[in-house]
Amino acid sequence: MALIVQKYGGSSVADTESIKRVARRIIETRKKGNDVAVVVSAMGDTTDELIDQALSIDSNPSAREMDMLMTAGERISMSLLAMAIHAQGEKAHSFTGSQAGFMTDTQYGAAHIRSVKPERVREAISDGEIAIVAGFQGINSLGDATTLGRGGSDTSAVALAVALGADVCEIYTDVDGVFTADPRIVPTAQRIDSITYDAILEMAASGSKVLALRCVEYARRFNMPIHVRSSFSKRKGTIVVGSDINPVLIPNQD
Ligand code: ADP
Ligand code: ASP
Ligand code: MG
Repeated sequence: MALIVQKYGGSSVADTESIKRVARRIIETRKKGNDVAVVVSAMGDTTDELIDQALSIDSNPSAREMDMLMTAGERISMSLLAMAIHAQGEKAHSFTGSQAGFMTDTQYGAAHIRSVKPERVREAISDGEIAIVAGFQGINSLGDATTLGRGGSDTSAVALAVALGADVCEIYTDVDGVFTADPRIVPTAQRIDSITYDAILEMAASGSKVLALRCVEYARRFNMPIHVRSSFSKRKGTIVVGSDINPVLIPNQD
């Protein structure tokens, strides 16, 4: 069976009922015999709300304090998701970016991942647990929390998948995959079955924002397959791979 990293975006974990639904989905993947590590974003608009709160206090807040604040969003969702999985009878263990071994540079607000050493995540998986990792965050050489830039949980997920040697990184969102244009703006947009890293980077350059740019660049560098799909349906989504990989071979597409 496969080792699968699943990432659930803020729209998929907007409230506690959604967190329970996502927990069921994760457990289904586990019960099919796969090992699973999960990266989770902050619930709904939490990150925007935290930024608004900060700006209502200080119009020019320190970048370090902003990162301390923003990393709190993913900490809430990771622990609630671990509890939801536990309440449904499976073992789960949550980790902050720091605990999951995400080392970054010191550029607060847009830090780059320097290395990922997910020893504790590996241990949890080999103990039969589902590992839940807070997206969008790491720790710098000063020991301070950092964030990876808006939408950065996508990059966390791909980086974790690479570090663990996963078979696929599944990105769960609120649309059925990558479309020819934003389906919320262009109703005639078509879902794309499979696409190369290069082609999706071209789409991103022209404004399409379904995946964070750095996430696709990271996946291309390490040849990590991505499956973009909806957490609200069981439909197959869009497979993103290099031109030398047959998309049909990517596991867990049903
Ligand atoms: P998440 O909360 O899961 O991270 P995002 O809001 O970051 O979700 O990304 C999903 C959104 O991306 C969709 O709701 C859609 O409106 C938008 N989007 C923009 N361009 C595209 C595209 N080409 N294909 C699919 N979705 C797109
Ligand atoms: N919560 C962060 C944001 O809103 C990261 C993410 O969702 O990927 O940008
Ligand atoms: Mg996103």
